[in-house]
Amino acid sequence: MAASDLVDLSGLLDDAKCFAFLRQRRWPEGVRCPGCGSSAVIRDGRDDIQLHRQRYRCKACAGRFDDLTGTVLASRHQPLGVWVLCLYFMGLNLANRQIAGELGLSPSDVQAMTEQLRRGLVAKAPDVALDGKVEVDAVYVVAGHKGQPAAVAKRGDWDDAAGWRARRDAARRRRTSRPSSA
Ligand SMILES: [Zn+2]
Repeated sequence: MAASDLVDLSGLLDDAKCFAFLRQRRWPEGVRCPGCGSSAVIRDGRDDIQLHRQRYRCKACAGRFDDLTGTVLASRHQPLGVWVLCLYFMGLNLANRQIAGELGLSPSDVQAMTEQLRRGLVAKAPDVALDGKVEVDAVYVVAGHKGQPAAVAKRGDWDDAAGWRARRDAARRRRTSRPSSA
């Protein structure tokens, strides 16, 4: 990995930018209530600890939520930037053990993080069965990276479990349609 990749990445590690990045990925067409789906949402202050984590109140159902509510990042102790870096290292096809070394985390923590990131950023019904082909998703991230993780991230497809399933299924079809190419 070239050192310049990490330098380029540093812009994403700004906490405010990380949250703005997450917001854009999660709600590309504007914030929506995760409870009822309404776009009648007003800002309702910031998180007490994560000062760039925006809170919202839904005018339709009176529900309260924030940038991370319902995402795999909400219940985790790692700062958002660590998740972004984790995703970046996944894109470089580093093993969980290597990512753990880079981030100063335990391999079991990193394994839990990478498994969740592969399922999708926004938690959905747990119908994504992890199986022996789950590494296909990492291959797609690598293929799109080429040292431009921001460009890949801007596509926003890594937060879409349905999209991931579609890519996985497409990859399986390609594999099975060329059984002798390996
Ligand atoms: Zn609502």
